[in-house]
Amino acid sequence: MRQRKAAATTPKTDAANDAALREKAALVCDRLDDEYGILEWRSHGEPLGALVMTILSQHTSDKNSERAYDNLRNAYATWDDVREAPVAAIADTIRSGGLADAKAPRIKNVLGEINEKTGATNLDFLRDMPTEEGKAYLLGFHGVGPKTMACVMMFSLCRPVLPVDTHVFRVSHRLGLIEKRIGEAKAHDALENLLTPERVYPFHVHMIRHGRRVCVAQKPRCGQCSLADQCDYYRSGGVMGESADRKSPETETRHGMKAETTTTVTTV
Ligand code: SF4
Repeated sequence: MRQRKAAATTPKTDAANDAALREKAALVCDRLDDEYGILEWRSHGEPLGALVMTILSQHTSDKNSERAYDNLRNAYATWDDVREAPVAAIADTIRSGGLADAKAPRIKNVLGEINEKTGATNLDFLRDMPTEEGKAYLLGFHGVGPKTMACVMMFSLCRPVLPVDTHVFRVSHRLGLIEKRIGEAKAHDALENLLTPERVYPFHVHMIRHGRRVCVAQKPRCGQCSLADQCDYYRSGGVMGESADRKSPETETRHGMKAETTTTVTTV
């Protein structure tokens, strides 16, 4: 097990403490690598597939969204076929993923927008686009927010762009890596800035695992947590605005697992 010296004090989220926060983030990464294993960062598939998968993953489990994605790919030979299909038919095909009547028009619309902008229904050209350009390009599509964009960039294109789902956000806030008031949208950049590029993927995956298994939303299992000595929530006796956590709807995307609250499909 790697031994990294523990941060002596609780860092605060201002520019002067950036170095301390980065050190703490590195220590967290080391601990989680030790606990959950070293991950190989490899592409999870073509970028358009990752985009559709991310839409399907909202407010449902990985298992349900994967089944919906497989049904969609089996029912239509190409993304053009999906783009040209009636919304009702797409919805029927992805029904197992939940919220099909909301997700189907979103999928059809984004496929149509991509085709209109590029003249083809694929995003393979993103592979050759610089990261910042690719991020801006994806965010230009209606309904594609920072989380969806980051999922495509990280999972498909292996770029160091961090998706922040409800688990990553909650655990990071409890640890004191980010302040809760910045919200999930700004947390993407704030957390990404604390990590070296090669840490982005394992940090995302491991924080989700930790959030599922140990740092769960309602009653975190601090007694079993390898990060307790680094955790502001633990040090505070669990009084870091957690009542707000319990009242707020929490949404997740692929690789973020089951949502605690199911409402509507939104831009993420
Ligand atoms: S000590 Fe508790 S609150 Fe802090 S990260 Fe671990 S499980 Fe979460």
